[in-house]
Amino acid sequence: MTMNTTTFPNSPLLSVRDLSICFDTRHGPLRAVDGITFDLAPGEILGMVGESGAGKSLTGTAITGLLERPGRIDRGEIHFEGQRIDTLSAEEMRRLRGRKIGAIFQDPLTSLNPLMTVGQQLTQTIRTHLPLGKEAARKRAIECLAEVGIPAPEARIDQYPHQFSGGMRQRVVIALALCAEPSLVIADEPTTALDVSIQAQILDLLKRMCRERGAAVILVTHDMGVIAETADRVAVMYSGRVVEIGPVEKVVRDPRHPYTKGLMQSIPRVGSRAERLTQIDGAMPRLTDLPLGCAFHPRCPRAFAECSSTKPAPRPVEGGHVACHLYQEEPA
Ligand code: SF4
Repeated sequence: MTMNTTTFPNSPLLSVRDLSICFDTRHGPLRAVDGITFDLAPGEILGMVGESGAGKSLTGTAITGLLERPGRIDRGEIHFEGQRIDTLSAEEMRRLRGRKIGAIFQDPLTSLNPLMTVGQQLTQTIRTHLPLGKEAARKRAIECLAEVGIPAPEARIDQYPHQFSGGMRQRVVIALALCAEPSLVIADEPTTALDVSIQAQILDLLKRMCRERGAAVILVTHDMGVIAETADRVAVMYSGRVVEIGPVEKVVRDPRHPYTKGLMQSIPRVGSRAERLTQIDGAMPRLTDLPLGCAFHPRCPRAFAECSSTKPAPRPVEGGHVACHLYQEEPA
């Protein structure tokens, strides 16, 4: 497993404070993200991991300003490059999204317009956000395609998305997300829809491209193995809360939260002879049926009386935070 020891400047690029997202339903508001707080340094890769419905994609969606009704931010703040962005208008957010925040989604076809050539899409994005003329933008677009490993970019620039394979399409999406030189990229399950054989290539490409440009990344995935290979820090989410956050090498080697321990035991290890990987028994609770106290307690092998009555607050531990009653505050 590759471990990352990159160091980052202290002032955050992104600050998320007590972010809560709820959905208005006929039966009242349902809380899908519940008071999450984290910072992201310039150039840092933060992995957000958890099961489907844990709130990780919604968090990414809220940061990009793409949260749709009936979802809404009902508490908390998001600051990007020192500016509060959760209160910006849709138009202000659209401009910020193209220029400063790039987005990559699971299915490349949702990020690409099937009726436009990849060259038209790239040059349009480049010209909207950078002061380049038509010819210079086309030249830049060809360079971008070459940088993401598209062979014969001068010819392929005039092709449509359906003329590319799944892996090549995701390369085009990465080029599109990075062509305006954003300082933050939100990548939501960028390799899940791809063939296993090309997933590692695409993750390597994403990581290398962002490192070269100094762009920070929030990498949303359900796969702890992907995080271990790619991220600098990891936030583990469960039922809308961050239950553990810390440097990847620390969390992978010494997970604290019982849920993180369960996730780690479900990653196949090189050289392991175990035939079956350990799975965490049970399923994450529905939003309509959240248990009192720690939402993980019905599945937790370490649960005790307090867990079913009191929600654990995040507590500082070496290099990060853990929200679990087993951990008391450690001295700084
Ligand atoms: Fe398990 Fe209790 Fe910790 Fe929740 S607070 S993870 S139930 S030990």
